[in-house]
Amino acid sequence: MNVSAFSDPVLPRLSARREVFWINPALSPNNGFCEGEGITAADVDAASDRLDRFAPLLKKLFPETAANGGLIESPLVGTERLQKALAAAGIPVKGRLMVKMDADLPVAGSVKARGGVYEVLAHTEDLAFRHGLLSGPGDDYLKLADEPARAFFAARKIQVGSTGNLGLSIGIMGAALGYKATVHMSADAKQWKKDLLRKKGAEVLEYDGDYAEAVANGRRLSDIDPDSYFVDDENSKNLFCGYAVAGRRLQAQLKKAGIPVDVDHPLFVYIPCGVGGAPGGVTYGLKSVFGSAVHCFFAEPVAAPCMLLGLASGQYNGICVQDIGLDGKTAADGLAVGRCSAVAAKWIRALLSGEATVRDDVLTPDMRLLWQTERLFIEPSAAAAFAPLKALLTTGQGARYLSERLSPAAAENATHILWATGGSLMPETERNRLLADGG
Ligand SMILES: *Cc1c(COP(=O)(O)O)cnc(C)c1O
Repeated sequence: MNVSAFSDPVLPRLSARREVFWINPALSPNNGFCEGEGITAADVDAASDRLDRFAPLLKKLFPETAANGGLIESPLVGTERLQKALAAAGIPVKGRLMVKMDADLPVAGSVKARGGVYEVLAHTEDLAFRHGLLSGPGDDYLKLADEPARAFFAARKIQVGSTGNLGLSIGIMGAALGYKATVHMSADAKQWKKDLLRKKGAEVLEYDGDYAEAVANGRRLSDIDPDSYFVDDENSKNLFCGYAVAGRRLQAQLKKAGIPVDVDHPLFVYIPCGVGGAPGGVTYGLKSVFGSAVHCFFAEPVAAPCMLLGLASGQYNGICVQDIGLDGKTAADGLAVGRCSAVAAKWIRALLSGEATVRDDVLTPDMRLLWQTERLFIEPSAAAAFAPLKALLTTGQGARYLSERLSPAAAENATHILWATGGSLMPETERNRLLADGG
């Protein structure tokens, strides 16, 4: 495909695997929230309520969620030592720098514990209402952990195609409820993720090809089975809404920490992007509560910038990174996606401030920096979050974005959050290899 056919000047640079920083020309004029076609803020509230209804059941199935009352939530951590180290490296963060540790989310150890778990629960509630396992939203959801519910779920399947982390969340949650869970995994998925899933009782089918092939085959096998439900990462409103609940949760956490968010105290959030559901949902949820006070930036690998390609070309899922000569291969396995989600692209088009792409060789040093300064471990995909922070603070485009939108006082009062999207389930040997010099 001829990239010069499209007007955005970023496209030739994407196809040349250059690191880019892109400000979204379609960002709504006042940076405010707008609902979007087929989704409203009420959908996110409904998802939040549904997670509350399931909290007693989650508490029982996953005792590690008990401290949070059965909510799957992660710490928001202040990172002053990291901030000092960045300043010393010529990246001065004015205001406050924090990390949202979704790497430590219970159940699945990544941001997928938000969307993936939510989608399994939404499907489960739907089945339970239709088949009389629950009489309605006010019923006792703990019934779902006992007979006859267990036998009912055991006769049903949940399937998903995944590069890794989505498979972990769907597989672990599905198997915990008693479903037959099948995860279709691409060649680039890590062996330890396959091993862990099998240990948790999920079935893993492996494919020589890429993510797209795993998804296509999973969907085909699920569609011919009337008792099977397919989690469609590329088109799922449920996943998106599950991720979006993070906005309300973060709002409560910031409030509890006494950190104000308004136009005089803006919030900047940096989130790694694969197919776009997780960062898109989080962005949607944040914009719906903070409106123009929050600025959301994505990060993608230079080899797989599918969301930036979809947005900048205006083609959404009608174009893939292979069309512009990229191979999609990256050490950031959670972000190794060639084609973005059409719904995510559509719903964040006017909400996303911008995006940076990042080379693989930058990920490990940033991952190690977070470990060395804060003793926080994240996987390489999650370390991509540093890229848009650095780009915003060190490039002319970034300076322009800030000066056009923020008063000098507001810049001093800003809170910057790196969204650390995954890592805690990684086995110790793998982790030590990554953290060791030259590993
Ligand atoms: C899946 C994932 C993302 C991105 O989520 P998408 O919904 O694919 O955009 C980011 N980081 C990690 C660690 C992930 O597993």
